[in-house]
Amino acid sequence: MAGMVRNVIIIGSGPAGYTAGLYSARALLEPLMFAGYMSGGQLMLTSDIENFPGYPQGIGGPEMMMELREQAERFGLEVHDKNVERVDLSKKPYSVWVEGEEYKSESLIICTGAESIWLGVEGEDAQKGRGISTCATCDGAFFRDEEVIVVGGGDSAMEEATFLTRFAKKVTIVHRRDVFRASKVMYERAANHEKIEIKTFKNVISWLSDENGLTGAVLEDSRDGSKENINCTGAFIAIGHKPITKFLDGQLEMDSSGYILHKENTMTSKEGVFAAGDVVDTRYRQAITAAGMGCQAAIDAEKWLESQH
Ligand code: NAP
Repeated sequence: MAGMVRNVIIIGSGPAGYTAGLYSARALLEPLMFAGYMSGGQLMLTSDIENFPGYPQGIGGPEMMMELREQAERFGLEVHDKNVERVDLSKKPYSVWVEGEEYKSESLIICTGAESIWLGVEGEDAQKGRGISTCATCDGAFFRDEEVIVVGGGDSAMEEATFLTRFAKKVTIVHRRDVFRASKVMYERAANHEKIEIKTFKNVISWLSDENGLTGAVLEDSRDGSKENINCTGAFIAIGHKPITKFLDGQLEMDSSGYILHKENTMTSKEGVFAAGDVVDTRYRQAITAAGMGCQAAIDAEKWLESQH
């Protein structure tokens, strides 16, 4: 309910948010979460999570998010599937605006995660949703027996490419170097797949299309600048993510890419404002590390609240 001052408002869901919710609910802080209109975060777009301990057969991303949420709600986490528009961190209690309504809280835990980066090359905007996507899990099935490309050389690109082999006739991974950030196991799974070809030292410099949508891309060799066209009716951009921090309007200290900086444990540059998960993490960015940091933030918030009374 707007009006009362909460102990903790958690902004954002996903493994960090739900774990922060679970711990703060069990600490009887009666937490309120604004989970976002698209609750659950990036794992809602992931097919299989094979590296979260405790799931020997793996688990679907949406299924895990539903279970984490259910577990936190069982202990009293109140969840609203709404976006936070802005916050005021200039005075305590802090204010959070959601659909024009003001909520106040002694402490905040920010777990808004990160979103996909696009290439931003010629023709991209016109073909978004008409062939170019950042989510194979969402859009892969539209490309049955077609040729698709995946741009990137990290785990996301390998995962997307491998997933797309379920539908596509051929999947080409286009990467700008010949060194891959992807883990060995995921790289090899993709590289050894009969439907996957890997093109290295290639940048997409523009997209090609006709009245029916995407038809291909122009690739430029990063060594000698030579160009070639590649045919594809689908393209998946997997070149990383940027943190979701715009709603903070610069009120917390961040690095040059917009990742929130921790000052003391999980506390940010504002007392009583904590942050966890991909919104701060430029290094690990795993479901398990986000969940662990959500736990840390909830414990830090609890101890900080205790110290205030
Ligand atoms: P990432 O590891 O940062 O890789 C991004 C890739 O995109 C890199 O190969 C990078 O190339 C390339 N790239 C960046 N900007 C580009 C541009 N403008 N044009 C062309 N290529 C560009 O990102 P990610 O793959 O999304 O992974 C993020 C994190 O999530 C990682 O920690 C990863 O382990 C984790 N993850 C884990 C799993 C899993 O375990 N199941 C699945 C997905 C993601 P350069 O190398 O040349 O910079």
